[in-house]
Amino acid sequence: MNMVSRWLGARRGLLILFATVVAVPAATLVFLGVRLLQQDRELAHQRRTEILEQASERAVRALDDDVAAIRRRLSDPSWHFPEAPPGSAYVEIAQNDVRAVPGSSLAYYPVVSGMPEPPAAVFRELEAAEFKAQDLPKALDLSRRLARSTAPPVRAGALLREARLLRKTGRAADALPVYGALARYTSVSIDGWPADLVARRARCLLLKEPGQGAELRQEAAALDADLEAGRWRLDQESYRYVSSQLDEWLGAARRPRADREDLAAATDWLYRQLTGTSTAGMSSSGARALAIDGRTVTIVWGFEQGALRAFLGGQEHLNGMWLAQARSAAYPATVALLAATDPGAPRSPVAAGQLTSRRSAADSGLPWTLVVTLGRDVDAGRFESRRRMLLAGLAAILVLVAAGSFFVVRSRNREIALATLQADFIAAVSHEFRTPLTALRQFNALLDEADDLTPEKRRLYYQAQARATERLHRLVESLLDFGRMEAGKRPYTLQRVDAGALVRDVAQEFQREIEGRGFELRCSVEPGEHPVDADTEALARALWNLLDNAVKYSADERGIDVSVGRTPGEVSISVRDHGIGIPAGDQQRIFEKFVRLDAATSRSIKGSGIGLAMVQHIVAAHGGTLRVASVEHEGSTFTILLPLQEQTHS
Ligand code: ADP
Repeated sequence: MNMVSRWLGARRGLLILFATVVAVPAATLVFLGVRLLQQDRELAHQRRTEILEQASERAVRALDDDVAAIRRRLSDPSWHFPEAPPGSAYVEIAQNDVRAVPGSSLAYYPVVSGMPEPPAAVFRELEAAEFKAQDLPKALDLSRRLARSTAPPVRAGALLREARLLRKTGRAADALPVYGALARYTSVSIDGWPADLVARRARCLLLKEPGQGAELRQEAAALDADLEAGRWRLDQESYRYVSSQLDEWLGAARRPRADREDLAAATDWLYRQLTGTSTAGMSSSGARALAIDGRTVTIVWGFEQGALRAFLGGQEHLNGMWLAQARSAAYPATVALLAATDPGAPRSPVAAGQLTSRRSAADSGLPWTLVVTLGRDVDAGRFESRRRMLLAGLAAILVLVAAGSFFVVRSRNREIALATLQADFIAAVSHEFRTPLTALRQFNALLDEADDLTPEKRRLYYQAQARATERLHRLVESLLDFGRMEAGKRPYTLQRVDAGALVRDVAQEFQREIEGRGFELRCSVEPGEHPVDADTEALARALWNLLDNAVKYSADERGIDVSVGRTPGEVSISVRDHGIGIPAGDQQRIFEKFVRLDAATSRSIKGSGIGLAMVQHIVAAHGGTLRVASVEHEGSTFTILLPLQEQTHS
């Protein structure tokens, strides 16, 4: 905790600077990016709404054109029922008469005009015999006589009664052909029912007897086919009655045509509007969609020449024509046409991301409520890719900012580390100066104050003074040299020398320097010449530094080996000690200036951290290389490798 607060304390200024220069603009950028994304999304929504509105408008226009064309057809003065496409019909309602085209399109009619009926009086005698006197043979006889009448309605009435009497007398099999004969009367009605329909229904009832199933099915199927083909003009009640009987006889096999029933229901609705109390409220023309058993029937009507004319379109027509038209006009949106009266119609669930618009019938003037829906993928791509680009851009900027901050902080940390190293260097160098200076002052004082010094002592003091002065001189020279090297201004004067001789000289001089400190300096030079091109002063200083380090970083074992040898093309100069050694991880960085290892500082070993940097510099200037091999607590070997030169012929 303490460390952290110290770290923060030391870097507060840096943090504030960082926040202002990097974090604030980055946050602003993110804020702006988010705002931009928001606006982009709103824009996309707006654009999709426009597309939807336009699609809806196109659908309305397409449908309106079609409905207008139908209206024109209805009001055509030369009107005679135009052709109606499948699943649709034209109807005309006038003076209690309803006509439809195609004739088979309505399952039933709101009104049916009667066909000729036999006069009731003709059968009075027969019925008296049948019901009052219960004289069935007489009644049968009378019926057969009347069946020979010239008037078809009378004949039909007589055949019906004959068959009934035969049934009553238990002769059902004889009644069947009589009904068969009656079934041929197609333009006579009995009690409001078409005579042939009555006869065929009666035959089916008789055929219900066991054992006649196949015949019943055959006759019932034929009756059903005629019913659905619109052979009879029935009112709703009669149609439903026959239809329910056919259901019973034919079972699941029977499928009445829903479209005919729907168109009939629509006609019925129109008729009721026309004849109902609200007649005054029925507009001269109009359009309306009715929901019938979950299907939609569309009605377009108009009053022309005293008659109500209408076009009726069933579900099939709606799907095949209007919906198809609307959908192609509204593409890429999808359209649904709903009957205004359909209670289940409103608000189908809208999936996420979809847009929906509703145009009511009152608003559009069309028979339906129009529901137009735009899928989530429509027109999404363009904005999506823009959004992705924007996000990628933002991410890239943030990464750049992060990377930039990282490098700034790192270089700043390095500066701080270097500054610390430099401060340590100044402290160390001051210390290095202080030691010989103190010695000089002490010996000066001794020589000055003590008059009775023996010449021997006086000589020793002067020698000590000379050594301290030499040390100071070397220190100053070394610092000046280092300064020149750093500035790249240290000139090197190379000349051919024998490395063995040079090393021996330096070793001897160094031996004198460390005299009396218990070190054994062993120097071995391989036989033969070791010619190199060297700046003798610089190379001597490099070797001196290595020897100095070997002494400084030695432990109990105080032997130091200096050796000169030859490898192919190179001359090697090695300094080996048996001291504290260097950890493998630090063996590279010891050559950087001002670097001192913990092992050195913790043992209070004097030094400035520039020695090895100088050696490195000097060796490089000679075109050579400097290597270190070291094992902790065992010792280190520094080796200078210089290019081997031609032998001197002096
Ligand atoms: P210094 O003035 O500290 O000796 P140098 O540049 O000569 O500076 O050495 C850098 C560091 O390398 C030393 O502080 C010491 O930690 C380590 N070092 C150098 N020579 C040796 C050696 N012979 N044995 C062990 N450590 C050494």
